[in-house]
Amino acid sequence: VINFNPGPAGLPLPALERAREELLDFQGSGMSIMEHSHRGKEYESVHNEAISLLTELLGIPDTHQVLFLTGGASQQFAQVPMNFLPPGASADYLMTGVWSEKAYDEAVLVGQARIAATTVLPDKRYVRVPRQDELQLDPKAAYVHITSNNTIYGTQWHRWPEVGDVPLVADMSSDFLWKPTDVSRFAFLYAGAQKNLGPSGVLIAVARKDFIARGRKDIPKIFRYSTHAENNSLYNTPPTLAIYLCRNVLAWARQVGGLGQLERWNREKGELLYGALDKHAGFYHAPVERESRSYMNVVFKLPTPELDDQFVAQAKKAGMVGLKGYRTMGGIRASIYNAVTVDNVRVLVSFMEEFVRKNG
Ligand code: PLP
Repeated sequence: VINFNPGPAGLPLPALERAREELLDFQGSGMSIMEHSHRGKEYESVHNEAISLLTELLGIPDTHQVLFLTGGASQQFAQVPMNFLPPGASADYLMTGVWSEKAYDEAVLVGQARIAATTVLPDKRYVRVPRQDELQLDPKAAYVHITSNNTIYGTQWHRWPEVGDVPLVADMSSDFLWKPTDVSRFAFLYAGAQKNLGPSGVLIAVARKDFIARGRKDIPKIFRYSTHAENNSLYNTPPTLAIYLCRNVLAWARQVGGLGQLERWNREKGELLYGALDKHAGFYHAPVERESRSYMNVVFKLPTPELDDQFVAQAKKAGMVGLKGYRTMGGIRASIYNAVTVDNVRVLVSFMEEFVRKNG
């Protein structure tokens, strides 16, 4: 099947095939990688290889460190303010969708947070990210939080906000590794693995070392980022199998040419899909404003909800799954993460053309 699910999403086939080959006997050890101790040399070499592949692919500078964490992005919504929002401080949140709302809701439970911009519409939807001149930033904020790609509404930041000297924190769950990214702009970025990088169960953070060192020390040790940083993400038992699979995906990404190549493919995929939507704008309605269109989640609607349902059902018969829009949104959402190929998207585009011919 061609998997257009929003996450957990498909993984590149070579990464899964490698896992299948190694599943029962990891490098002649007679056991699966998931049966190895996280303190043994076999697992540690996988762990460190995943970190070094990510460091190489993203060009992570020495000022920053990779962390493997658990609890998903949702836990970071709470853990970020627990670490970086001490009493008396305030954080700025830029609201671009459901996930930024959830992040903000957790922050106000922990400390003081402000909405420094929002593009919410009266009907609660979002169809763009804010422009720089709409940001009302507090120059004294403890940090500014953004959601780089809005999985549900299909919007994406294509220019990072200018936030002066205030640390920038980003939830990159749904577009991490979609293209080369200057991570030095971020004090802390985080992403659940289950879209572009691996299976669910592990979260990747890239953090500025001095920023996490400044984090609060009066919270439980397990929630301090500094604890995980000081222990190379081996303070407690990490999700070893998930990290092993991320290693496979990262090795695949390097082998196909790195993030520059992934970006070329992703742009081609996005242009193919948006091209089809624009060509048939009288039939397919793509609500997102052009400059905010996401290259990861492409959302659109057909003329009626009945046609939406038929589209999803017929696509499934043709081998394409995961196209139903988010439950509160309806419509269609094609999630075209790194593991979806340009050819996969061509199949969807031909299906869309055929669908208009029959129903338009
Ligand atoms: N942030 C974004 C942008 C997401 O797309 C999601 C899930 O789809 C989350 C956060 C929540 O992630 P998790 O379920 O790993 O907590």
